[in-house]
Amino acid sequence: MVGSAIVRRLKAEGFDNIITRTSSELDLRQQADVAEFFAQEKPDYVFLAAAKVGGIWANNIYRAEFLYDNLMIEANIIQAAHQSNVEKLMFLGSSCIYPKMAPQPLKEDSLLTGLLEPTNEPYAIAKIAGIKLCEAYRSQYGSNFISVMPTNLYGPNDNYDLQNSHVLPALIRKFHEAKVNSQPYVEVWGTGSPRREFLHADDLADACVFLMKNYNDAPFVNIGTGEDTTIQELAEQIKETVGFEGELRWNTDKPDGTPRKLMDVSRLHAMGWRHRIELKEGLEKTYQDFLANELSYVE
Ligand code: GDP
Repeated sequence: MVGSAIVRRLKAEGFDNIITRTSSELDLRQQADVAEFFAQEKPDYVFLAAAKVGGIWANNIYRAEFLYDNLMIEANIIQAAHQSNVEKLMFLGSSCIYPKMAPQPLKEDSLLTGLLEPTNEPYAIAKIAGIKLCEAYRSQYGSNFISVMPTNLYGPNDNYDLQNSHVLPALIRKFHEAKVNSQPYVEVWGTGSPRREFLHADDLADACVFLMKNYNDAPFVNIGTGEDTTIQELAEQIKETVGFEGELRWNTDKPDGTPRKLMDVSRLHAMGWRHRIELKEGLEKTYQDFLANELSYVE
């Protein structure tokens, strides 16, 4: 989702020298393959968006893969970028890096001030290691490696798997299927009280290209809208967008996760960037995209 959004953004600006690889063409966990790719292609600017990602269930179950795969991907790419003298690299992290009980909204300097949320601790540890790798190459070698921390994302090419996905795509699919099959209710996980912030992938891509052009410093930068909603409000909004008329049933056997994850985006706003796609519009666009691509999204 993120990689394809960045490519769309760059193409819209007229770039025709974009180098990409799918995961089946290049397994980023393989050090020798990554080193060979960088030696051959010699990219100048690198967006490191590739990662093993998933929602609360997948993060909690596939704990080994979320730690191992993400550590390997970022270690291999950052080291290869250093060896092939890339001009600049941007590492994309996540809002999960912050301590579970950090003050809200989450400021960049709350990193490593407390314990992490247990359901996604392995993923968070891997992403914190990525930030620290970028900082270490910058301080030891002067590399222009920067890091950005996006909030929860959604948009075209999202993962719509019912178990492994994040809440927003999961609920679009659940409400859509319940509507089509005239089901009386949709099961929603947890209590509905956690608060989350959602950013459209096209806005994220816009921010990434903006920061690639304008930001050259060590402290990482949060990317979000600075606005959040409860899971209950999100579920009601998706229900309305999809046009489902039945009820919501809360399954409180499923975890709530972190009570709140709202980014402090004042650093980004001070640089002159602000999101454009509000949640209501983004949900409508995303449901239309889901309808147009349903067969490939839910295979
Ligand atoms: P998180 O932000 O890392 O906690 O990841 P998620 O996006 O997976 O979950 C966010 C919140 O939405 C949690 O409180 C979940 O319990 C809740 N939620 C409600 N229904 C669903 C669902 O169908 N799928 C997922 N993934 N989360 C859901």
